Amino acid sequence: MTRFADITTMGVGGHIAHFVEPTTRVGLIEAVEDADSKGLPLVVIGGGSNMLVSDDPFNGVVVRDARCLITVPDEAAPVEGGDRTVHVNAEAGANWDDFVAFTVELGLEGVEGLSGIPGTVGASVVQNIGAYGQEVATSVESVEVWDRETKTTRDLTPADLQFGYRYSALKASMYAGPGKPADRFFPTPRYVVLSVAFALTHSAEGTVGYGQLAKALGVEVGDRMATADIRKAVLAVRAAKGMLEDPTRYALADMATAKREANILSDLDRLAALNNQAGIPAGSDGLPAPDYNRHSCGSFFMNPILSAQQA
Ligand SMILES: Cc1cc2nc3c(=O)[nH]c(=O)nc-3n(C[C@H](O)[C@H](O)[C@H](O)COP(=O)(O)OP(=O)(O)OC[C@H]3O[C@@H](n4cnc5c(N)ncnc54)[C@H](O)[C@@H]3O)c2cc1C
Repeated sequence: MTRFADITTMGVGGHIAHFVEPTTRVGLIEAVEDADSKGLPLVVIGGGSNMLVSDDPFNGVVVRDARCLITVPDEAAPVEGGDRTVHVNAEAGANWDDFVAFTVELGLEGVEGLSGIPGTVGASVVQNIGAYGQEVATSVESVEVWDRETKTTRDLTPADLQFGYRYSALKASMYAGPGKPADRFFPTPRYVVLSVAFALTHSAEGTVGYGQLAKALGVEVGDRMATADIRKAVLAVRAAKGMLEDPTRYALADMATAKREANILSDLDRLAALNNQAGIPAGSDGLPAPDYNRHSCGSFFMNPILSAQQA
């Protein structure tokens, strides 16, 4: 029986009565609708990297989207008429860093600064993930959702999504006020993300948008450089701060299919190299020793946004 402890980065949480992993869009909608129509508590989970779950048994339904397809509908004509926009569609269950790696390999600019953020594409738009001078909102063209209230699918535009700092209308839909869960929907938004359409730019270079990153790269904020180098530097800076997820979690049976195998292996290699530098031996299973410093749900505070006068 699957436990939240096995599918969250905190590594805690009780047994789950019903754990469902739909492999089709209709299966995902049906799983959500089935739980809602029966009045069962529902958690739509992604990478479980922004959750702290009780150790009590959970007598409801946990749905994890097993779909992870990433497609490039207009790949053949990225620079037609001087327009360098390239659209990329990703199913909600796709691992976020798999998505970033894919776009960087394809020579696209827009999300390289968000390398190494744990979780899924579906959850990325719930809190408008951000780091190192970028946030996902600037690259989102539309989000296809299942509306649990009207029981219909909808395409939400950036205007509908009301993106703000670690905020969106999706996130707002499960709260009655700041920090106050709504009676309905919580801990899952009213809108379940099915897929996200991104608009990225055909360019092998990106802008270094954050002081700490610029320092690591030995350049100035605002300089342009290869997106692959920005990604590499972001991963190194995050690793040094314990802000990557522990890749050994993908050795668990319940996590093995939640990320592309080649990317799990390169994450394990990166951790092994760090462990090696620190003189930490590998385990008897051949895997690098887990990095418990990464067993977290990320930052639990937000940066205060002040006017110049308040500052
Ligand atoms: C080490 C570490 C570092 C982090 N660094 C950052 C960072 O730099 N920047 C940042 O912004 N965040 C960061 N986070 C937080 C976390 O990575 C993000 O919040 C991420 O988007 C969560 O994704 P997830 O798939 O794991 O979501 P989960 O934890 O599985 O779910 C979070 C919420 O999203 C909902 N959800 C999940 N999937 C869907 C879906 N398909 N449709 C609708 N709702 C859905 C869930 O119901 C839940 O309410 C970090 C976390 C960790 C552990």
